[in-house]
Amino acid sequence: MAFLPVAIKPPWDGGFTWAKDTNGNDWMSINIQGEGGKMYFPCKDHPSDEPNEGADLKITIPSNLMVAGPGLLLGVTTKKNKSTYHWKTNYTISNYCILFNIGKYKVIKDEYTTVLGTKVPIEYYVLEVDTMHAKKVIETRKRDSKILEKYFGEYPWAKEKIGIAEVPNSGMEHQTMITFDNKFSYKTINGQEYSANLLHEYAHEWWANKVTNKDWGHMWIQEGIGTYAEALTMLEIGGEAAYDEIIAGHRKNSRNRMPIVPDVDEATEELVYSGGDIYGKGSFFMHSLRYVIGDEVFFPTLKKLATDTKYTYDNFVTTTDVEQLFSNASSKNLKPFFDFYLRTTKVLDITIKEIGFQKFQIKVNNYFMDLPYDIIANGKMTRTIIPKEGIIVNSATPPQVDAKGNYLKKITL
Ligand SMILES: [Zn+2]
Repeated sequence: MAFLPVAIKPPWDGGFTWAKDTNGNDWMSINIQGEGGKMYFPCKDHPSDEPNEGADLKITIPSNLMVAGPGLLLGVTTKKNKSTYHWKTNYTISNYCILFNIGKYKVIKDEYTTVLGTKVPIEYYVLEVDTMHAKKVIETRKRDSKILEKYFGEYPWAKEKIGIAEVPNSGMEHQTMITFDNKFSYKTINGQEYSANLLHEYAHEWWANKVTNKDWGHMWIQEGIGTYAEALTMLEIGGEAAYDEIIAGHRKNSRNRMPIVPDVDEATEELVYSGGDIYGKGSFFMHSLRYVIGDEVFFPTLKKLATDTKYTYDNFVTTTDVEQLFSNASSKNLKPFFDFYLRTTKVLDITIKEIGFQKFQIKVNNYFMDLPYDIIANGKMTRTIIPKEGIIVNSATPPQVDAKGNYLKKITL
């Protein structure tokens, strides 16, 4: 290889990261999500360029080290003190996932049985100096697999492996070899250990690697739903209260500086990531959508998006595909709702006005469609649709609108 660009700020500003482990052994990772495979091999410079028949990698390194790569390890041949690792994936793969990591690894192996009964090998490439942490990482991965499969269907690469590699930078969703560096620290929730770093990158096996957006403009599908997967994991581990807490954080952190889906023909990676909202606001959008259409429609439709061949593997998705899927499933035209959240920076502008004795008018000033609201009046909460003309509520004190915070909104009393 003639040119190996060194990463500036991995995994965001990518390239090759040359590091040493604590024992002084060479340790190398590649991160090229933003830059694409063109950083070190010839390919089309676009996120939709995925080789449908997979990829072969043959990497030669000093024999005291190991190569962690995508797919299956077909063989290792050693000549003198150099070893060549032949990794091959047969699945369609984003060009930025065609890469490898090198380190003084030990491979800890286990097995996971998917929701459809397929036995998948788990292979964890952990630095020899960190093997005491392996058990917890693998147990967490198995638990997270069950949760993600419940909502998004079977692990997408069941014919190859669930791979994890320890790298010297924050993690990345490299297909069948997810990298991570959570410093082996976990949060304890309801007596169970949880790492957002481990979970988020793993959720990308479904939302990025399996369901891939057509271009950068629709990146929220991967990052927003990937972040929403963290909330669903909270729901499973810690119940409604833990889910509500993380969703409240996503609501609060919505910056609304620029629309999530930019109004340009060809959005760049820099543009869509610079607003910051493809993560938290993207996740909060999914929560709002859940509230609007209800769990009976929301969850099966979300699973359909992650499992239907129309949206997965060799196919790509746009915001319109997602909107039409949810609109059809709910028999509602959700386009105004998707547009409001994803293509504007507006929040619902609600006025509560006293118009008589114990009588209040509630109006949505920037109304775009009938939406349900939880309204507390006289201590009692009801779910009410607010139409264009608004509603009148009898209450001794000003009613509380959307008390639990299911929307992004501004209220004027
Ligand atoms: Zn991500």
